Amino acid sequence: MKSETGGGLLLPGDPPPFEVINPEGRARLVLFSDHAGRAVPQRLGTLGLKQDELDQHIGWDIGIAKLARKLAAALDAPAVLAGYSRLVIDCNRRLDDPTSIAQESDRIPVPGNRGLSGEERKARQDAIFRPYHAAVAAVIARKRKQGPDPAILSLHSFTPRMNGFARPWHIGILWNRDPRLPVPLMARLMQEPGLVVGDNEPYSGKDEHGYSVIAHAEAQGLPHGLIEMRQDLIGDTAGVARWAETLIRVLRDVLADERVYQPRA
Ligand SMILES: [Zn+2]
Repeated sequence: MKSETGGGLLLPGDPPPFEVINPEGRARLVLFSDHAGRAVPQRLGTLGLKQDELDQHIGWDIGIAKLARKLAAALDAPAVLAGYSRLVIDCNRRLDDPTSIAQESDRIPVPGNRGLSGEERKARQDAIFRPYHAAVAAVIARKRKQGPDPAILSLHSFTPRMNGFARPWHIGILWNRDPRLPVPLMARLMQEPGLVVGDNEPYSGKDEHGYSVIAHAEAQGLPHGLIEMRQDLIGDTAGVARWAETLIRVLRDVLADERVYQPRA
């Protein structure tokens, strides 16, 4: 699926705002990853940051794009990956959220995001946020039209240390009101030897800061969950392969259970 170049922000040579992998995937599942990419439009330079800052966790969810590709291929599921850095515009924040275009991240100020005009903000929304979410919505709508309704999984990764605290979880499942997918998924993950599974850790789905799962899954009544993988575990090819193998096995088991898809009472 080709993506639109969007508004006037993107130039020839800039990557597309999203990529749809395996659009015809037949699994009863749609994957998306809001922070998969770390591109910055040429017109915005490096947002006033050093390249190595953009390459760190503040710029993107390290490792998650590679993991998402493996899951999409093995499970035969469509996956939508965002192409641009969360620091250009955060595709997992409402547009009226103050952190939609972050002034700082993990205590690093982002000079290129200071003092933006309404027009500059709108250019990022139109070129990146809107086309990405339109793509996610289109993939889900097509799945639903073909039937039966899919489960939705949002894929993220988290930095192993935050504010001096070493996060013990290998993987966390974030969720709020709908237990259909997250509860059996956590139970199945806990059967894996040695796995430390976070229940609404290292972030909580109950604080409703996230946008994408609420908009694309909760609001549609689709079973859903959000996976957070610790970045040091999927920082190289071997780690991605190991964790993909585990998640593929676990998700095959969990998604094969019809109860996941039963309408909620
Ligand atoms: Zn993320």
